Amino acid sequence: MSETFDVIVIGAGPAGYSAAIRAAQLGMSVVCIDNNVDSQGKPTLGGTCLNVGCIPSKALLDISHKYAEVHHFDQIGIQLADISIDIAGVMQQKDKVVGQLTSGVGMLLDGNKVDVRAGTGQLGSGTSVIYTSHDGQSETLEAKHVILAPGSIPVDIPSAPIDGEHIVDSTGALEFSETPRRLGVIGAGIIGLELGSVWNRFGSEVVLLEALDDFLPMADSRIARDAKREFNKQGMDIRLNSLVTGADVNDAGEVVVRFLQKEEEQEFVCDKLIVAVGRQPNTEKLLPADSPVKLDERGFLFVNEICETDAADVYAVGDAVRGPMLAHKGMEEGVMVAERIAGNKPLVNYDCIPSVIYTHPEIAWVGEPEQSLQAQGVEINSGTFLFSANGRALASNDATGVVKVVADAESDSILGVHVFGPNASELVAQGVIAMEMGSTAEDLALTMFAHPTLSEAVHEAALGVAGHAIHTLNRPKRK
Ligand code: FAD
Ligand code: AMP
Repeated sequence: MSETFDVIVIGAGPAGYSAAIRAAQLGMSVVCIDNNVDSQGKPTLGGTCLNVGCIPSKALLDISHKYAEVHHFDQIGIQLADISIDIAGVMQQKDKVVGQLTSGVGMLLDGNKVDVRAGTGQLGSGTSVIYTSHDGQSETLEAKHVILAPGSIPVDIPSAPIDGEHIVDSTGALEFSETPRRLGVIGAGIIGLELGSVWNRFGSEVVLLEALDDFLPMADSRIARDAKREFNKQGMDIRLNSLVTGADVNDAGEVVVRFLQKEEEQEFVCDKLIVAVGRQPNTEKLLPADSPVKLDERGFLFVNEICETDAADVYAVGDAVRGPMLAHKGMEEGVMVAERIAGNKPLVNYDCIPSVIYTHPEIAWVGEPEQSLQAQGVEINSGTFLFSANGRALASNDATGVVKVVADAESDSILGVHVFGPNASELVAQGVIAMEMGSTAEDLALTMFAHPTLSEAVHEAALGVAGHAIHTLNRPKRK
């Protein structure tokens, strides 16, 4: 007889493990199936995020930032000699953090009595799932509800096939055993910029090739412009309008990259090439041929606003469904689905999802950028405040960047908060809370912030919406 559960979750990334934990907390019997293995072939929980995504990339970003920073300590009166980097030691530290967090997810699942199975799950008929362990044994599990959380994998482009040695994807770029002298990155999106920053700080000459002629089109255009200038200053050569058409490894082991810049064929040579052109849903082997679960036109699992698929009692969450491919978005969807199965009625507020690019300075935003609101004909007021006028940022010798608060001209409701600056990833949470609570710019302006803090820049930008900033000159409002 097949085993029966209240819920089967396929995938133990942030979306799947959050769904499993919450469902178990709500009293349901839960099995969570995950087929991820580490470089030694050992099953590992936490999906892309913990193993080859958010966490290892942030560990490398943090270490490389410290390494870059110590080179400028003489500016603040600290003299150091003989600074050097040990990439093997860096990788050990990154792997330690990954190990701590992946085993932590295992402990959380166990502690909540989730039955974890290593292997692959395929949706069967109705709400049954065929579970195949890593040694090839299959069994059918039955459940009242199934949550699909298979996540995503890197997009491959035929013009730059991954060989794992010279041409790598984001996973390979987290594993270099030494700093490449010349590094090419295809794609100046979030992942390309973060990985380019890591290796630039460790000493690579970095060239990023981006097909679009717009830099970070999803960010506020003023912030994108300031950020590009700053990244160029840091030594990253960002070439827009540069569509990669081919990449070959020559006899000397160099990668020759061909690209079209303004319709002209160009070439450049590097030692390693990272392909960071986006991610795609990981739905291979997940569904049977005649599944009632449908895909959308881009190959994502089709769901409605509460993550129901077209099949009864089958839900899908995380990177494999529409919306931004972000861990926190997947976690919220996972929790929402578990709650809904339990009969509660929460919703995910898709208008309040923060985005962060963990460069230095960081770029973070919630809501819409000024240019897209203007394009929609929305009347707005905005306030900006530079970190160069913020006492705490100056005291920390880290005063590049700006905060912008955008509000509806009539209602004063906050429509967007955009930060380029130190700790932008933390500061943006203030905008998320304000927007989630339906605050006006005046609400934020009337709130007291500790001095001296970086948060005061958010306060001043909110004050600036009405032209009331104290620590900067208020400009007459543009028409
Ligand atoms: P995943 O994390 O991809 O997990 C899915 C799991 O399901 C995997 O373990 C997979 O092996 C397993 N699986 C798939 N199919 C099956 C099956 N049929 N049977 C069993 N198991 C299966 N996001 C952020 O929010 N912040 C960041 O800073 C950030 N940085 C990133 C940096 C990099 C380099 C990358 C690559 C991504 C980054 N992301 C970041 C994105 C983030 O990793 C994803 O949004 C997140 O992991 C998605 O969670 P998920 O649970 O949907 O899927
Ligand atoms: P993201 O979607 O944020 O991961 O960013 C991926 C980036 O890669 C996008 O900005 C794409 O425009 C860019 N891109 C995709 N294909 C190519 C290509 N062949 N050459 C250069 N850039 C590309």
